[in-house]
Formats: sequence, structure tokens, C-alpha cells
Amino acid sequence: MAKRKIAVIGVGKIAQDQHLPVIDKSDDFELAATVSTRGLGHGDKPVFKTPAELYAAMPEISLVSICTPPNVRHQYVREALDAGKDVMMEKPPTTTISELDDLIAHARRLDRVLFQTWHSQYNAAVDRARDMVAKDGVKSVRIDWRESVRKWHPGQDWVWEPGGFGVCDPGINALSIFTKVMPFPVFVQESTLTFPANRQTPIDVQITFKSGQLHRPEMSAGFNWLEESGEIWTIRFETGTGDELKLEKGGTVLRVNGEVVLENPSEEYERIYERFAALLDAHQSDVDAAPLRLMSDVFLMGARVNGPDFEW
Ligand code: NAP
Repeated sequence: MAKRKIAVIGVGKIAQDQHLPVIDKSDDFELAATVSTRGLGHGDKPVFKTPAELYAAMPEISLVSICTPPNVRHQYVREALDAGKDVMMEKPPTTTISELDDLIAHARRLDRVLFQTWHSQYNAAVDRARDMVAKDGVKSVRIDWRESVRKWHPGQDWVWEPGGFGVCDPGINALSIFTKVMPFPVFVQESTLTFPANRQTPIDVQITFKSGQLHRPEMSAGFNWLEESGEIWTIRFETGTGDELKLEKGGTVLRVNGEVVLENPSEEYERIYERFAALLDAHQSDVDAAPLRLMSDVFLMGARVNGPDFEW
């Protein structure tokens, strides 16, 4: 079968690190063009300054992958759907739940495929942890998500603007694993958000979760953006039978009682594009709003602490 032609909109860090190289290697997709406000292309493919220019010049391109920051995603996805495109969108999908609801309804109305990617969900270790937790239950959960903003978002000022999520931009990856694995609904009990005094989004977030479960599992999370010793992206589950399941390295490694039982190379974006191909074959959308909903509640429930200024 001929490869599907797809355009990438927004040629920033994640498009360059993951989307473009994965499309280059894909059996399902072939890059047709890029849309870049800075005029960044890929190989010899055409570059357009705006999506409207792409849609006018290459109407035959029916697929787009939107890799912009979340604060402009609603507008870009709406425009793509209106132009008759099937759409893949980076995480976090939008800045608000109402925008996401609107996109879901709009895709349905226009009978287009809309795919919301949560890349951290696409790891075999996460699936294994979910199966074990479904069988044995949960006594406690601890999420630690710490990294360096200077390493992972170099110079990206949008992360500090309203709607930029701050440390909750990586933190929502943890919540996408958490909501996928948990066998019962979880809610935010309390959260404390530390904001650099000169910025609009948090640099450190501490969360306590609750559930309606009678055995009252203890569940908490800590996100921090000033970790310079390397990434700590771990989620530890204590099961109802007393085993310790530890997802490490962003969900690519699973340890059970200290022993590594599953370790996969990170192929999250390969899996994402395979999933998009399957959704297109089935003409089916896939949008999971749960991580964004929980993160919205973190902000709604948040107590504010003022921290020191942040400078790059
Ligand atoms: P980035 O480096 O800032 O790139 C975003 C790109 O979007 C910009 O370079 C720009 O590309 C385009 N853009 C269009 N409108 C924009 C606007 N109003 N403000 C800023 N950029 C605009 O960010 P990123 O790290 O690639 O992140 C993009 C999305 O991917 C975010 O939602 C992020 O959460 C997600 N993500 C990031 C990572 C990571 O490790 N950084 C990992 C997974 C997911 P042009 O100049 O080409 O138009």
C-alpha cells in the first residue's frame, strides 16, 4: 500500500527530535510538507508559513500532525478539521477542557479522525503495570517527575505563560500513565504550586490524590523542574498483595520488587504513528481527556507559593 502523505505543523523541539525522524522511518507515512512560522523545512519538502497556505497549495494532503504548544492548538486543529483533514495532536491537547470538548464535537460533526497522543502511554511496561494492578489492586502510589527545564525546554518562553502549564507540561505525562493504569477514578485532594515570582506557571507541584475506595489508598505526586542530576520519571505502585511495581524512565522500565521484569527501548512515537495509521484504517477517533481533566483539577485546587525568580 502507498504511504500516507502527512504534513507536520510546528517544527520545534519535539517535531525535530521525534515526529520528523519517525515519519522518515515509517512504513505507513511519508512527509509531504511542513508548516513553520520560522520557515523550517525537512529535506526537500515544501515549507509553508501558515496552515492555510498549505491547504490551498496542496489540497490533496489529508493528514496533519500538530506539534505546536498547546495554547494555539485549538485554533490550528479547528482550522485543519474545517479544511477536511484528519488530525494528530501533541500533548497536552489544549489548554482547557472546554476547548478539547469542542474539538471532539467538531471532529465528530465533520466525520474526521482526531487522535490525541499521550506518548508516555505507549510503553509495554505501562500496559504490564496496568494488568498487574487490575488483578491485584492498589494500596499506594507515589509519582516523582523531576527534570531540568533548561535541558528539556531550552529557551521556550511559552511554558512560563498562562496556558503553558509550567512543570505540569512534563507532569501531565505522568498523569497520562497514572490515569491509564489506575483501575478506579482518582481525584485531587490538595495541591501546592510554587511559582517563580517573575513567571506565570509553576516550577514545582506537590499533589495528594484521593479516591472513593474504602481502603483509602495513599496516592501522591511531586513534579519539579530544577533537577539537574538527570531525569527522575518514576511511578511506584504498591499492590493489594504487597508487591512493589516501579515504572522508571518515563514508563519504559518496569521493576517488580526491585527486579527489572520489562525494559523496552523508548519507541513511543513509533507506536503513536502506528496507532494513527490503525485509527485512519478504521476511520475512528481516539481522544483521552482524563489526564487533562485531572491536571485542570490540580490548578483548580492549587494553593500558591511564591518562589525565587527563574531566569534561563
Ligand atoms: P517548541 O520547541 O517551542 O516548538 C513548538 C513550535 O511550534 C515552535 O517552534 C513553532 O515552530 C511552533 N509554533 C506555532 N505557533 C507558536 C506559538 N504561538 N508559540 C510558540 N511556538 C509556536 O516546543 P516543543 O518542545 O516542540 O513542544 C511542542 C508540543 O510538544 C508541546 O505541547 C509539548 O508539551 C509537546 N512535547 C514536548 C516534548 C519535549 O520533550 N520538548 C516531549 C513531548 C511532547 P515554527 O517556528 O516551526 O512555527
